[in-house]
Amino acid sequence: MKVSEARTRSLTVLAQDPSVQVNGRPLTGTIIVPAEELAVGPRGYRVQVIDYDSSRDLFYRSRANDLERDPYGTVTDTRRLIGDAHFHQQNVYAIVMSVLARFERALGRRVSWSFGSHQLKVAPHAFADANAFYSKPNEALLFGYFAGDSGPVFSCLSHDVVAHESTHALLDGLRERYIDPSSPDQAAFHEGFADVVALLSVFALAPVVDAALDLEHPRETKSIRSEQLTPRMLRDGVLLGLAEQMGRQMQDVRGHALRQSAGLSPSARYLDQEEYLEPHRRGEILVAAMLNSFVAAWVSQIEHLRRVRPGYVERDRVVEEGAAAADRLLTMTIRALDYAPTVNVSFGDFLSALLTADVEVAPDDTRYHYRNTLRRVFASYGIKPASTTAGAEPGIWAPPEDEPEYRGSHFESMQRDPNEVFRFIWENRQRLRLDPDPFTKVLSVRPTLRIGPDGFAVRETIAEYVQVLVLRGRDLRKLGFRRPVMMPPELPIHLYGGGSLIFDEYGRLKFHVRNRLAAPAQQGRIDYLWQSGALSQSADNALHFAAIHRLRAYGGADAVMETW
Ligand SMILES: [Zn+2]
Repeated sequence: MKVSEARTRSLTVLAQDPSVQVNGRPLTGTIIVPAEELAVGPRGYRVQVIDYDSSRDLFYRSRANDLERDPYGTVTDTRRLIGDAHFHQQNVYAIVMSVLARFERALGRRVSWSFGSHQLKVAPHAFADANAFYSKPNEALLFGYFAGDSGPVFSCLSHDVVAHESTHALLDGLRERYIDPSSPDQAAFHEGFADVVALLSVFALAPVVDAALDLEHPRETKSIRSEQLTPRMLRDGVLLGLAEQMGRQMQDVRGHALRQSAGLSPSARYLDQEEYLEPHRRGEILVAAMLNSFVAAWVSQIEHLRRVRPGYVERDRVVEEGAAAADRLLTMTIRALDYAPTVNVSFGDFLSALLTADVEVAPDDTRYHYRNTLRRVFASYGIKPASTTAGAEPGIWAPPEDEPEYRGSHFESMQRDPNEVFRFIWENRQRLRLDPDPFTKVLSVRPTLRIGPDGFAVRETIAEYVQVLVLRGRDLRKLGFRRPVMMPPELPIHLYGGGSLIFDEYGRLKFHVRNRLAAPAQQGRIDYLWQSGALSQSADNALHFAAIHRLRAYGGADAVMETW
């Protein structure tokens, strides 16, 4: 078939990394990406593999012909793939494209990178170092390689490392203010969210779930006694068992994201502990809450099978349900971004966003009770929804306090034009309870079409705005804030507020999800930034990703991962 006729293409990738093996061979999987006509690289319309090695100052050759074919689907000795640079190039291209496609499918629209251009550069052998990172100035994902115990180790071959870095790039495009210094939660959010997407992407691949289940129930057993499929077995046997294999080669690049998070037993006290103020450690709490929700969701899907045939469950179905639960939670996680505030995000905001976005697209949750599971498991880690609405669906965002006025707004341009949305905001500034003084800007207006698990379609328009107020330390009191002791009166301070406006298919405002700029909401942020030293840096410095990652690098012996 010609490429123009097929809409998608399946490509062979390593299912996790070379250390996850079955019968002594690395485990491969197939992922589906949008079909496109590729240039040598492979280079496509959103992702361009440029195999330049800055440590050796050379380019590695790429496959020159038959670019639309997957030559690795028939390889039986998968050990051969580890040393094949052309396979490395296909592996990164396919994983980055599939993460992008997943974001676009979940959000129901095209998703941009945060920099101006359409194409993200990906360098699979960028330098000789145990590191991998997203570089906004280079518009690139850079993957390093290093010497391991038994030959070179390539970070571009680790599915979760590639998905993690792709997620940083995508999240930065969707919520560009999340890299601002703000609160311990926001500093941790980029890392935690990237790990959640990476790990759920790995578990959404059936061969990985299959291999992990193998550790407890070898694949010769066609059915498993249902009382053995407990949350404890799935977490301690399956997830932690896989974590042991996964971290083995890549821990210098990656640490032990899965092991640290899956092994973190529930406690509502972590969030207040000193140790968990460090962004990377704090991110683990979010990942732990999501991984344990995944285990609980998996168990509840298995419960359904048990009703079909009491006593035993078919092994294949257990695998299928695990991959399906990961897939569903991953889609929910990505969708939550549109319902999260544009600035100063907290874990509680994210949970309310997660619940609300799901209610809108899947109102009926009585089959597997995903939302109850999330509420219960997140609460066991001390994460409560930011919204305090009660009732049948607690924790979802409340509708706007006052009905806005639509006179003068045009339905058509409200779906795409930032000026039109700004006019709406300006004319409704009192009804929306906006702070009138700061500089206000509409960042984006995005029409979306989401399809629920039951095929139900929801059309919405998401508009994001931010508010910025630049002032000096001495002005804080005038605005109702407390000036921290020892803060110089001349110190420049940036305050940020903002929100996400969610319009329904008739152009009516459904939700206004925001974090206010005014007192008292920002007092905690001012205190935190002053104490952590972020306010004393120049504004430019403070606004860079590096700030987060430098903190992470100082966080402890095993916390160094990405240097920026
Ligand atoms: Zn990261």
